Amino acid sequence: MTEIRLIPLGAHPRDIALDTLCARLERVIPVRLQLQHIPIDIDFALDPSRKQYHSTEILAALLEQNSTTAQKLLGITPYDLFVPVLTFVFGQAQLNNRAGVFSTFRLHNEFYGLPPARDILADRCFKEALHELGHTFGLRHCTGLPCVMNSSTYVEDIDLKPADFCLHCHEHLHSVC
Ligand SMILES: [Zn+2]
Ligand SMILES: [Zn+2]
Repeated sequence: MTEIRLIPLGAHPRDIALDTLCARLERVIPVRLQLQHIPIDIDFALDPSRKQYHSTEILAALLEQNSTTAQKLLGITPYDLFVPVLTFVFGQAQLNNRAGVFSTFRLHNEFYGLPPARDILADRCFKEALHELGHTFGLRHCTGLPCVMNSSTYVEDIDLKPADFCLHCHEHLHSVC
């Protein structure tokens, strides 16, 4: 069974129970989650002018620091992420490879001027984690069917999609996990 290491980056995201997130992921994907408790430093990926962290550099560093294990690596950070061609990304992952990362920065209701809602935050994190892990297992963006692999431009897109894979993506996952 594939092992996934969930790694806090920079700091622990606030208001999120990471052990609960791990348990929820294990119920949907046939993998074993292992939580790293101590966050790793990602200052190297900060772009001072954008005040955001370059997600591609983070993925490279995750792989470099964990080169001796066969685990897949999923980073979670409270800090805002970007790739140069976009104003921000919710997350990024390597297609059919080991590393993925997502940010909780724009998953908080407060970011949109709304009252905090822990359940909504937890569901958004869960969907983002499933989505990025899906990429690491070779899944591309899913179109046509309601699926957690649908792409998301806005947080509303995350809220609208299900916290599960469509039948097609499910079958692929179970054939490779
Ligand atoms: Zn995606
Ligand atoms: Zn799908």
